[in-house]
Amino acid sequence: MDLQLTAEQELMRDSMRRLVAREIDPYIEKHDPDQPLPKPVFVTILTKLAELGLTAARLPESAGGPGIKMLDYGIMFEQIPPIVGLSLIAHEATVARLSAECNQDQRRRFLPDLIAGRKIACLGSTEPDTGSDPRGVKTRLTRQGSSLLLNGRKMWITNVSACDLIIVTCMDCRDGEPRGKVVKVVLERDRTPFEAREIDTIGLRQGMLGEAVFENCVVPPENVVESKAGGTEVLKSSWVINRPLFGLLAVHLAQRAYDIAIEYAKVRKQFGKAIGAHQLVQKNLSDIVTAITTSRLLCLHALSLVDHGQPADGAAAMAKRYAQNACNEAVWQAMNVLGAMGLSTEAKVEGLYRDVRMVAIPDGTNEILALIHGRELTGFEAFRGTGRVVD
Ligand SMILES: Cc1cc2nc3c(=O)[nH]c(=O)nc-3n(C[C@H](O)[C@H](O)[C@H](O)COP(=O)(O)OP(=O)(O)OC[C@H]3O[C@@H](n4cnc5c(N)ncnc54)[C@H](O)[C@@H]3O)c2cc1C
Repeated sequence: MDLQLTAEQELMRDSMRRLVAREIDPYIEKHDPDQPLPKPVFVTILTKLAELGLTAARLPESAGGPGIKMLDYGIMFEQIPPIVGLSLIAHEATVARLSAECNQDQRRRFLPDLIAGRKIACLGSTEPDTGSDPRGVKTRLTRQGSSLLLNGRKMWITNVSACDLIIVTCMDCRDGEPRGKVVKVVLERDRTPFEAREIDTIGLRQGMLGEAVFENCVVPPENVVESKAGGTEVLKSSWVINRPLFGLLAVHLAQRAYDIAIEYAKVRKQFGKAIGAHQLVQKNLSDIVTAITTSRLLCLHALSLVDHGQPADGAAAMAKRYAQNACNEAVWQAMNVLGAMGLSTEAKVEGLYRDVRMVAIPDGTNEILALIHGRELTGFEAFRGTGRVVD
């Protein structure tokens, strides 16, 4: 087992860092940190990521993707500012989902603009009453004469306020049944307008996390996804990649906090010497680097399992939960190294602390992730309450 990056991986990481510094950071820094970035800015950033294949990172070349290893994707992804990373996960996972579940005509109509980064995509699963347990979905697809109508509400959807296309998970009531099977429909905003607005949150405030309301939205019949792929397979193939990527968002934030803390520890003097020369400050810095290193390794390990076709559900859940907790603590420690300055908006660590808090919830809360990992370890499914033994 070789844990060193290859020369090629180092090159990828360094070119990504340079691209971020040159082409992405200036846009982010130019805008109010507390307001969602304007859509044209996001589209510009997305088109730059598209040039590297990252808008379709998990697709093989035969499906229009770059055909890269997920480990390499993770190495590059860690360099991306989290506000862009969050948006990219939502966009790119939607592209992967469309590619896996749509028919040929739908793929032809939806994918080229999304892969090129000209349009923004998102996935609407969560609702006001439906969070960790997706079976409670209430958004309904009904038939009225020759039209298909969508009614319901989605919440906490990344990219929704700026999206051009959303996949909506809904209850299929086309046969007049009050609760049919769960299906997905694709809404193209220019054909099926719907109301969407941002939700104000503690962190990642430049993002476009929001809610959408569907009131008698007319769904073109050709936009209903009659998936041939196994639903569970498809969901898992996005979760097992999404979760380590979320972990790497936390790693990015903790690394930035550490970079600020170590510089401060070298120049700030108390009791006649640099605070970095005090033993307990060194211990704090050591704890931060330990959290970053272990989190990074767990996330990359989960992605490497995917590359090797190994089961990665438990490893991906473990990686995200561990990384979020460890990096949350690491950013907190970094704030402490700066004393009162750590609490000021000027030092920019407090913003990282608010941002890292956001990673705990999407694609599995810490509790749900522990139960997913526990299910793999014991063979018992705890979260549905039946204690059913999993084959
Ligand atoms: C930044 C961000 C981005 C997001 N992006 C998207 C998106 O793009 N698309 C989308 O559809 N959704 C998205 N979400 C929503 C996210 O997936 C849900 O918030 C998440 O699944 C949890 O649902 P909930 O908030 O309703 O919490 P709930 O499910 O109501 O949970 C509340 C609490 O109960 C605990 N809990 C629930 N069930 C159990 C159990 N069986 N055992 C133990 N504890 C339990 C949870 O861990 C949590 O602590 C996003 C959320 C955030 C914060």
